[in-house]
Amino acid sequence: MAKKAKKETPLMKQYNAIKVKYPDALLLFRVGDFYETFGQDAVKASKILDIILTKRGAGSETETELAGFPHHSLNTYLPKLVKAGERVAICDQLEDPKQTKTIVKRGVTELVTPGVALNDDILNSKTNNFLAAVCFGVQWVGVSFLDVSTGEFFISQGNTEYVDKLLQNFRPSEVLVAKPNRKKYDTAFGNDFHAFYLEDWVFQDDYANETLLKHFNTKSLKGFGIDDLYEGIVASGAILHYLGETQHHKLQHITSIQRLTKGEHVWMDRFTIKNLELYQSTNQNAVTLIDVVDKTISPMGGRLLKRWLALPLVNLDQINYRHDVVEYVKNDTLLLEKLQLQLKQIGDIERLISKVATAKITPREVIHLKNALEAIVPIKALAIQTKNKALKDLGEQMDACEALRERIKATLNEDAPVNILKGHTIASDFSSELKELRDLSASGKDYLDKMLERESERTGITSLKIASNNVFGYYIEVRHTHKDKVPEEWIRKQTLVSAERYITEELKEYETKILGAEERILAIEQQLFAELVSWISQFIKPVQKNSALIAQLDCLVGFSQLAIENNYSRPILTDGFELDIKNGRHPVIEKQLPHGEPFIANDVYLDREKQQIIMITGPNMSGKSAILRQTALIVLLAQMGSFVPAESAQIGLTDKIFTRVGASDNISMGESTFMVEMNETASILNNISDRSLVLLDEIGRGTSTYDGISIAWAISEYLHEHPSKAKTLFATHYHELNEMSETFERIKNFNVSVKELKDNVLFLRKLVEGGSEHSFGIHVAKMAGMPQQVIHRANKILKQLEKSHSSEELTDKVKTLNSEMQLSFFNLDDPLLEQIKDEIVNIDINTLTPVEALMKLNEIKRML
Ligand code: ADP
Repeated sequence: MAKKAKKETPLMKQYNAIKVKYPDALLLFRVGDFYETFGQDAVKASKILDIILTKRGAGSETETELAGFPHHSLNTYLPKLVKAGERVAICDQLEDPKQTKTIVKRGVTELVTPGVALNDDILNSKTNNFLAAVCFGVQWVGVSFLDVSTGEFFISQGNTEYVDKLLQNFRPSEVLVAKPNRKKYDTAFGNDFHAFYLEDWVFQDDYANETLLKHFNTKSLKGFGIDDLYEGIVASGAILHYLGETQHHKLQHITSIQRLTKGEHVWMDRFTIKNLELYQSTNQNAVTLIDVVDKTISPMGGRLLKRWLALPLVNLDQINYRHDVVEYVKNDTLLLEKLQLQLKQIGDIERLISKVATAKITPREVIHLKNALEAIVPIKALAIQTKNKALKDLGEQMDACEALRERIKATLNEDAPVNILKGHTIASDFSSELKELRDLSASGKDYLDKMLERESERTGITSLKIASNNVFGYYIEVRHTHKDKVPEEWIRKQTLVSAERYITEELKEYETKILGAEERILAIEQQLFAELVSWISQFIKPVQKNSALIAQLDCLVGFSQLAIENNYSRPILTDGFELDIKNGRHPVIEKQLPHGEPFIANDVYLDREKQQIIMITGPNMSGKSAILRQTALIVLLAQMGSFVPAESAQIGLTDKIFTRVGASDNISMGESTFMVEMNETASILNNISDRSLVLLDEIGRGTSTYDGISIAWAISEYLHEHPSKAKTLFATHYHELNEMSETFERIKNFNVSVKELKDNVLFLRKLVEGGSEHSFGIHVAKMAGMPQQVIHRANKILKQLEKSHSSEELTDKVKTLNSEMQLSFFNLDDPLLEQIKDEIVNIDINTLTPVEALMKLNEIKRML
């Protein structure tokens, strides 16, 4: 017997028809006052939201899981779903259920994904929420970023490393990739960010071009200066396509697209960004640089500061422009306070104006927008009055949009509600019709009071009451004791335990008037508000411009505040090659030392002539890494426009900062962390320029001592001999590396001083000239409280070992190697080098086990 077909209810049929269109999304299906989820979606939703999972049609063939929540709680539950990584399709009722006899029409009105969110509860006000797309072209990788909540849109292209750096900088919430490129994407960029795969055809150049031209309503992309970014355009097109697919069609606030150019900012690769803990730390709760330096007040300022940190400048004029403003404001504390006071009034105009475009702005937010623009008036005046050219410039470009403010003021009540349905949004004076209706509604209530008084008198019923309900509107309530006094013409509607309810002709007439008036008031308010919002949309561009200027000012004022609070000084940027930091400090560590413990400031001097590479030796925990990192952070802060934690700093423009930290565990870790370390280091060696700053922290630590020393030696030698003469700080506990300074003229030895007490080591944390004579492991043992005898014995053994493997021996060996074979890294004609190169090229790193890697290395070593 054929199995009886499942009998679906019309509602479930409709649900299933919509669900198949959004297979990857969790579907919130509006039924009456609830959003319901069914089947697997319900199982997921109940887990994530901690709501009850029930069954629909329990026991029947169509039984399915069900979980739901009241529609007005959407703002509470939606962010939780999105933050849990779900894509959420919101399916609403598209018609008034009262107006239809059949099943209500429903459709998806918005698809919220991690990268496409407008809801304030999902967004973090001081962080952009970027959606990215990556397009793999023949030659380049294209990349694009869009924050739909602010309208900021960026485009670029380059090699994998460059795109990787941008991804690390922009930290998108979602990355769009063509399905066939899934593997390529994983290999190139890993899984740091949530990826979503689209059909391949979306990533076609014709389609992308057309999409962009249509969006910007232009004939060519030349005006944006991006027409040559072939792969970038495809990525941008994919982003716009995705917005359409997720039902985001109101995109007027995406007014332009900005090109990111490789050479215009300090280059930092992913390792450097991570090592320097700019925005994120490996330790979840640790303080990062942004936490310390962010003194911005407005959300736009906070978001821009993160971008400035990601993209420090390499142009002297631009950097000086920022420093000029910071200095000026810092020296005029009255101005600083006034500006801060006004900045506090501004709020998030950037996201507010985006909400105008997406028609999601509430009446109260329109009032906020007006207030924010009002605060721009004094800011503009303050900026223009100053003697500082840069600040004046900023002020002059601001436009307090008077017409816009006036119109909002005239149209809305100052205390307009969040929800327009609450009424009292539009000012009575704005519309005479509205005023009349409001008067009528108010007088109607008055009239009812009078009527009650009159009827009480006429009937002699003292306890008459007028009220209304949803069933039969206004009624008169009479307690049973007075029942016999009720006039004949009153119509009884309801009997309660102690009273009866009546309606009268007069009451009904009045009711029609009042209710009619109230309905009409609401309709007029909605219409006038919609008209206002659509009128405001012509101001999207000027408001966005204001918001960009305010963001800049906020960052700069924040830098002034930072400089005052933390005692930073103005760095001097030059087009020379010297780096001369006097009494520099680590901006984060200095804020975190236990109470009363001073931060020890240090000088660092580097140039390309005499002191290109500094070998910093010192025991563990002595402060080597701190010196390396603070040097990078001082340069970074300076080039993003901030003052710096140092007594003085003269900085030759830096174009790239590289930092590498050696793995602390050895090869027994399973995966070859050492190999990873070598790969990372290799990429520096291939990218350095004469303006680069290289920081190597314990490179080579991840292998055995002599391997480690050899590798560290070779890398330093390479950096020394490389024509770029890149400035380098190398922290190491291999004191053997100190020998290098004898052979290599621009390598200098420094150490972080310690004072050995009887049974302890005192960290002085001062960087002083000179190398270290012996190994430091024993210091650590001392600190850990090892018994004296053990320390004593260890020292003896060490001396023995050092004799048999003396470092001089090592130096001599390397020296002879060099002279015997006249091996220079840059003597590329050398047949031996050719042979070694072949060996290396032929290694398949992906399949190599750590042990094989070591054997191979040994093999290559033997060839020398
Ligand atoms: P190393 O790299 O030599 O192992 P770190 O640079 O990691 O040492 O420093 C270890 C700890 O010492 C830091 O976490 C910090 O608390 C403290 N420290 C480092 N430098 C200083 C300094 N200049 N002044 C005060 N404390 C410091």
